Amino acid sequence: MARKPERPRTRFSQVYMKVGVLALQGDFEEHIHILRSMGVEAVEVRLPDQLQDLDALIIPGGESTTIGKLASEFGLIEPLRGFGREKPIWGTCAGAIFLSKDAHRSQPLLSLMDITVERNAFGRQVNSFETELDVPALKGLGPDQNGSFHAVFIRAPLIESVGEGAQVLARLEDGRIVAAQQGRWLATSFHPELTDDDRFHRYFVSLVEKQENS
Ligand code: GLN
Repeated sequence: MARKPERPRTRFSQVYMKVGVLALQGDFEEHIHILRSMGVEAVEVRLPDQLQDLDALIIPGGESTTIGKLASEFGLIEPLRGFGREKPIWGTCAGAIFLSKDAHRSQPLLSLMDITVERNAFGRQVNSFETELDVPALKGLGPDQNGSFHAVFIRAPLIESVGEGAQVLARLEDGRIVAAQQGRWLATSFHPELTDDDRFHRYFVSLVEKQENS
């Protein structure tokens, strides 16, 4: 845990935390914005050294092949794996692909989370869509006490299967998996950072708190 008690606490937590957002490519600024609006210290990460005093990391959406290629070039693959073995990581969309063990093709992956993903699973006709998801894990995080979440999908992957130790957090109406968790790791096919609903970010931050208290 980064210890800087003089820093502001988050408005929903008594714990100071510093969360990095991998800023090689993709929509990292939106994650930074939403974290800061929650009172969390948020920083852009491009180099291995910048992981050192972070409590958690978010890998944004974008293009997973580009993120993987740049991460290799910047010498980030092993440092990110080491970080993930100890601290929470959340991947959104391309970030979820990068976090996974298997994306059915050869591209650099962190291979941390025991999920298999199918890239661009929604085909050309439905590259992007929005829908309401039922996410029981979010219940109680909002004023209305329900777990319904407006999800934005952009050339999104599906989480084809989750391995032992991982659990499903959300499915589409037809049963296909779009959010999963394995201990401190979170993967969402969609982009909570593109809405002004911060409950998924708050859920992630609650994993960071749990981690600190364990
Ligand atoms: N289609 C992209 C990929 O396969 C992911 C899209 C996104 O992150 N919005 O990497």
